[in-house]
Amino acid sequence: MSRRPLYLLPRVCLKAETKQRCEVIMRIEEDVKLDFKDVLIRPKRSTLGSRKEVDISRTYKFKWSGREYNGVPIIAANMDGVGTFAMAKAFKADGNGLSVALVKHYDIGDLIAYYEQNGNDNVWYSIGVGDKDVEKLDAFLESKIHKTGKGIDKLCIDVANGYSQPFTEFVRRMRDKLPDVTIMAGNVVTGEMVEELVLSGADVVKVGIGPGSVCTTRKMTGVGYPQLSAVIECADAAHGLKGLVCADGGCTVPGDLSKAFGGGADFVMLGGMLAGHDQSEMEVVDVDGEKYVQFYGMSSGTAMDKHAGGVAEYRASEGKTVRVPYRGSVETSLQDILGGVRSSCTYVGAVTLKELSKRTTFVRVTQQLNNVFGTEG
Ligand code: 5GP
Repeated sequence: MSRRPLYLLPRVCLKAETKQRCEVIMRIEEDVKLDFKDVLIRPKRSTLGSRKEVDISRTYKFKWSGREYNGVPIIAANMDGVGTFAMAKAFKADGNGLSVALVKHYDIGDLIAYYEQNGNDNVWYSIGVGDKDVEKLDAFLESKIHKTGKGIDKLCIDVANGYSQPFTEFVRRMRDKLPDVTIMAGNVVTGEMVEELVLSGADVVKVGIGPGSVCTTRKMTGVGYPQLSAVIECADAAHGLKGLVCADGGCTVPGDLSKAFGGGADFVMLGGMLAGHDQSEMEVVDVDGEKYVQFYGMSSGTAMDKHAGGVAEYRASEGKTVRVPYRGSVETSLQDILGGVRSSCTYVGAVTLKELSKRTTFVRVTQQLNNVFGTEG
């Protein structure tokens, strides 16, 4: 009999144990799971001359809706200060085909007006699973704009914990109700649940529990999964069923997006990296001569206060409220982000973003950056 401490015994050893001892032994997965910070992408010899030669847009045909998507597969998160009408307009003007998951707290009248004036090509209509969300969605589906075919064509069904049976049933109901609407649903972090959601009607499964910049799930619940490993494992599961995944949360620098795409993500969703801009539709405050914009998790106290009652059902765990430096218009940040991803592609010889995952080999590291002169810049 092994002398290793009981908690390290692999599950198979338990067969030899008495029933009573089995009950006290925990299950521990021993293989290391990785976050973006734990790896770098290994460069590869290539014939690419410059990043201008790289195309970082993707074309997808969605499994269930049958619709096509073409554009840079980056989505602004449905968070206050990020998933705004102003952000959607800026992305449209930018012309690279990025999209925005609209904040779900927008008023129905404002949502309809937005679709009437700007079209639906780069926005996802967001809902939780609450009765109010469904009533608002139904009202939109009855609107004139929706009946002309220019209404909701992309739906983001978003809950903190995508593991519950009622959530899967909700996704299935939406799929039955809206057969030609592209559905993105989440969040989950493991392959078996990705499969369940794809089979229930999700075209895209959103992956990420706990990695977000203003998320406190891991602190409050101890639940989560390192984001890069979650993306790698979930992408594998989804692709096997012709589904797609969206890596949601945890990107702090452009290189993190490249790692997510390199790990197999079909879309990447950004919150914090897009906060603090003119497009946030937030007040810019002056603190000791420096300009800041407030940013908060959608289940933070701040969000609860603002949306009175509409938030508790949406996010089980709390979020943080922070101040981010004001960064002007989002165009400059977009250039940085897209430039970074293009550059990653040149380092590994990927002419298109699609090739990035095929050409990515991750190297595990113990250090990422040299911060001898600070962490800014
Ligand atoms: P970020 O890009 O800022 O790291 O992560 C954005 C993601 O964090 C969002 O798309 C959403 O999935 C998640 N998120 C937003 N607000 C909250 C919150 O209050 N609590 C939790 N647990 N996650 C949140």
